[in-house]
Amino acid sequence: MVAIESLTSEGQAILEARIDLMPGPTPLELLPRFSEAIGAEIWVKRDDVGSLGLVGNKVRKLEYLLADAVRQGASVLVTVGAAQSNHARATASAAAKLGLRCVLILSETSTAPPSGNHLLDLLFGAEVEFVDGASWDLLDATLAERCNELERGGERPYAIPMGGSTPLGALGLARGYLELGAQLAAQDVSAEAVIHASSSGGTQAGLELGRALVGRGPAIRGIAVAKSPGILEDDVAAIATGAAALVGLPRSWSAEEVILDYAQVGPGYGLPTPAGEAAIRLLAHTEGILTDPVYSGKGLAGLIDQVHRGLLHGPVVFWHTGGTPALFDPIHGAALLEAPGSG
Ligand SMILES: *Cc1c(COP(=O)(O)O)cnc(C)c1O
Repeated sequence: MVAIESLTSEGQAILEARIDLMPGPTPLELLPRFSEAIGAEIWVKRDDVGSLGLVGNKVRKLEYLLADAVRQGASVLVTVGAAQSNHARATASAAAKLGLRCVLILSETSTAPPSGNHLLDLLFGAEVEFVDGASWDLLDATLAERCNELERGGERPYAIPMGGSTPLGALGLARGYLELGAQLAAQDVSAEAVIHASSSGGTQAGLELGRALVGRGPAIRGIAVAKSPGILEDDVAAIATGAAALVGLPRSWSAEEVILDYAQVGPGYGLPTPAGEAAIRLLAHTEGILTDPVYSGKGLAGLIDQVHRGLLHGPVVFWHTGGTPALFDPIHGAALLEAPGSG
């Protein structure tokens, strides 16, 4: 990686202490037909493309979190999420690669037979435990309890909070932003903004840190898909500030600096919206690239909406965070095809 002038050699070493789960830069591609359809130059950063399972943004966080787990001699990875959690599935795939046991505590019973990410969790050999109707706060409590139990049973558990959104995990996206900067420079593109789906805050926090490390580059604009206004800004600011401290960068974020758009949340987390479904169809029809109804489709809908409202002119980078296994959850499939060609 390029040396960052703002970091000491210790800080630089922390930024390099990762397990390589996402080899090489992910592709940066121009979307000519999609750009023409929406009226602005759009590029896509393909974090949905990789070599580990069906990859996605969570793998960038896991590169740092699992380096830490290995350093601590962990025998089992334990994490939490929704039944169709991409983060849980990414953890299961990484655990398989490293030969670690993996326990996933999921907040609702998935459909039977298992589909989408739940099916992949099982295929990667994870032990899936459902806590019906658990709130996200209760899941974090359950995570701590389950780790204690495993420890009493002689295991060395490594707990990963919801979405892997810790300061350490966020370093993965800071590194991703540096990677993007080099790709934009090589293409001689000066992008106005990076747009992505934002949920537990680690992705946006990491991208903010990456921008602070280079001191320039496209602004970060999150499209919220879950939390209500106010809470996510605080989370992003806190994680970014913590991540900066980890690498020794004297920089802190306030909630006011965090740019988030709540227009795409719709009825709530995991529930599809007409705009999100139209965005999924449009990208699929014009470029043959898949996004999902829970995250990346809503992120893309936010990008289209901001271009149409004159808030963005381009070039813009859509950070594709992955999530395509949700397309194969039966609750989404039919609705996506309801209005073929309308996108
Ligand atoms: C988790 C996830 C996000 C949001 O990332 P956070 O770091 O939780 O904000 C976006 N897209 C996909 C596909 C995800 O799985």
